[in-house]
Amino acid sequence: MRTPGAKALRQTARWLRSRFSRGALILGYHRVAEAGSDPHGLCVSPGHFAEQLDVLRRVARPVALHELARGLQTGTLPRRAVVLTFDDGYLDVLQQAYPLLEAYQVPATVFVVSDYLGRQFWWDTIAEENSQVRSLTSEELCRLAGTALIDVGAHSVSHPTLAALPAGEQWIEIEESKAKLEEILGQAVHAFSYPHGSTSAATREMVRSAGYDYACSSANDVARAASDRFELPRFWPQDWNGETFERWLRWWL
Ligand SMILES: [Zn+2]
Repeated sequence: MRTPGAKALRQTARWLRSRFSRGALILGYHRVAEAGSDPHGLCVSPGHFAEQLDVLRRVARPVALHELARGLQTGTLPRRAVVLTFDDGYLDVLQQAYPLLEAYQVPATVFVVSDYLGRQFWWDTIAEENSQVRSLTSEELCRLAGTALIDVGAHSVSHPTLAALPAGEQWIEIEESKAKLEEILGQAVHAFSYPHGSTSAATREMVRSAGYDYACSSANDVARAASDRFELPRFWPQDWNGETFERWLRWWL
């Protein structure tokens, strides 16, 4: 038997839950390296990264991005869930970050730019000290993807400001990066990350049509049940020591 106000009450309860439930944090990183030259602020030192992982293990619940996406949909996300992601697919994700992720058993998703595998990004060619800095090769990417902790997602073909491109070019960036990575890895690619955080309603619709299941933006917010799964917000931890990171994390959790 349904009372007249039951539907409105249910809707209100859902709204309250989504408004006040704490949700989960998705953290975005680029590089784990001692910064010789870091004009874009992309580096967290290996020492600080280890301290941040130690904090995550103590005060949070590290989960994989696919677990978060499923948990948001089904309402089964553990409290204090935190997801790690890496954008651009730098070699130091394999050399510096992965051994630490393994030591602390923290999963992560690595978003790679399909046309830049094994190459240097244009923004690194500007800083002379970064002339040795490059992205993962296909072979190195496969090694990472073969581990239990790492998922690979796509970060476009050429890292453009996606939403500013004509629709046809956006589609190529979105669809071809998925196809190329799936060919290299021999497994499905479910996640996308918008280069420069650039996205629009039309861009998100293309990401959905291309067969991705979820996508990360660069907007700073907590991911909640009500979040658009094609625009999952992220925070970008800086080169903080454990103490600073823990203070920051506890505020959001
Ligand atoms: Zn990027």
